[in-house]
Amino acid sequence: MHHPSVIAIDGPAGAGKSTLGALLAARLGYLYFDTGVMYRALTYVAMEAGLDLADQAAIEDLAARVRIEVAPPDHDDGRQYVVRADGVDVTSALREPRVERNVSIVARYPGVRRELVRQQQEIGRRGRVVMVGRDIGTVVMPEAELKIFLETSLLERARRRAGEQRGLPNPPPVEQVREDLARRDGLDEHVLRPADDALILRTDGLTPEDEVAWIMQQLARRG
Ligand code: C5P
Repeated sequence: MHHPSVIAIDGPAGAGKSTLGALLAARLGYLYFDTGVMYRALTYVAMEAGLDLADQAAIEDLAARVRIEVAPPDHDDGRQYVVRADGVDVTSALREPRVERNVSIVARYPGVRRELVRQQQEIGRRGRVVMVGRDIGTVVMPEAELKIFLETSLLERARRRAGEQRGLPNPPPVEQVREDLARRDGLDEHVLRPADDALILRTDGLTPEDEVAWIMQQLARRG
């Protein structure tokens, strides 16, 4: 079976891109690269530095200066990767609610996108990578031979997210999760569209294993 060197997986927040991407990458022996963590790391660094997130010039300037690295985990604590900003491990801060609330604002600035897309392309062009995001198939790696766009209903995404958060100290109710996802969908609308040659995978009712099996079938069909 011929395997494409770059597999792009795009879709909205909570569609299960990360779970699917990591599983598929492990199956193929590829690098798993979740591009969302770069936007999250930049947001976190900007907030820690006390920057006004509405100050586009300051945020774009930061994006050009800060060095964000995404590396395989350095010890086995269940993490899928380690993210460092100027050498400091910021991985555990990336899922904080304040980052989640603000990341889509930071990700809208063209100067931010230009800089992070350039860095993502450098990693993507090394090949043997499953890249996960919003605009991988359309902007970052339009040359990817296999592009998957996940479509999942808002309700199913909210249920899955709420399920993941059930173990946390103050889990938000499904209704709250649903509202947060809908808000982020709106803010991400400008990048969220399938490439013309993307395969649409509707994931309601499917398990990650089902999704991997479907993708492996597509690969087999292509020979
Ligand atoms: O995928 P994740 O939820 O971690 O992404 C966080 C945010 O980063 C998204 O809501 C979106 O605003 C931004 N993002 C993006 N382009 C990508 C990946 C993420 O704009 N390729």
